[in-house]
Amino acid sequence: MSHSGTLYVVATPIGNLQDITLRAIEVFKMVDIVAAEDTRHSAHLLTHLGIKARLVAVHEHNERRAGEKILDELRAGKSVALVSDAGTPGISDPGAILVGMAREAGLNVVPLPGACAAVTALSAAGFEQPHFLFYGFLPASGAQRRKSLETLRDQPAALVFYEAPHRVIESVTDMAATLGEARKILIARELTKTFETLHRCPLGEAAAWLLDDPNRQRGEFVLLVEGAPDAPQAEVSEDAQRVLQLLLNELPLKQAVKLAADLTGAKKNALYQLALELKSV
Ligand code: SAM
Repeated sequence: MSHSGTLYVVATPIGNLQDITLRAIEVFKMVDIVAAEDTRHSAHLLTHLGIKARLVAVHEHNERRAGEKILDELRAGKSVALVSDAGTPGISDPGAILVGMAREAGLNVVPLPGACAAVTALSAAGFEQPHFLFYGFLPASGAQRRKSLETLRDQPAALVFYEAPHRVIESVTDMAATLGEARKILIARELTKTFETLHRCPLGEAAAWLLDDPNRQRGEFVLLVEGAPDAPQAEVSEDAQRVLQLLLNELPLKQAVKLAADLTGAKKNALYQLALELKSV
């Protein structure tokens, strides 16, 4: 009886080769085949690690066809490491199709964690919201990009984008216009590399900061935008909202807010925001 092999999904560095994991090295040494997005690119990494491996190309244009061959190898008991050019396979990179095929075929899939530009940037953002939404690349066309951003506007989660250097200024400009200028953005450029730059500012200032120095527009980018602020209603109970409305009917705004806060214990800031909205209706 023959035993089928394992498909290892292996994360590789996003710049600094020191970020390879010990486990990834162990797997590269042990597997029969390394399935790579770009065999020349991965050969460079393997040579750096002093590892000789049989490389097979699996990229976005041949993933299904090449995947069938890889599945045959796995069924024959061979083990395979799947890698992309940088970071985690399947994250804005090829890999999902082959992994899906292996799963459908009932083959063993083992993920090896490691570098991922999105998670690396998030770890340095200091955004307190517990949620994030990984979007990856926005559409290249301006109209489509703005439409996509509109759908994300009210998400109470940090938004994580990948962006190409020649579109970064257009993108942050569209983000400021659709998501609001006050929200914070973290521009994470060239992570783990020599010219690594992390800059946090209000969205409304991002384009000017990038334009200030052409070097700031070079390289690879993750753009992280703070999630939508909580709607003031969400922080104020229905009872407190009713009290505020009654007081607003009789008193000037500031006084109504102070009294409502004293009476209900709701947060003054949230009541104030809500009062402004109620007054403007
Ligand atoms: N699979 C990768 C990962 O796990 O992050 C992402 C691959 S995607 C094709 C490449 C994009 O990821 C780049 O255009 C850039 O937006 C982002 N990226 C990759 N490496 C980066 C780095 N060192 N610094 C900043 N962004 C990076």
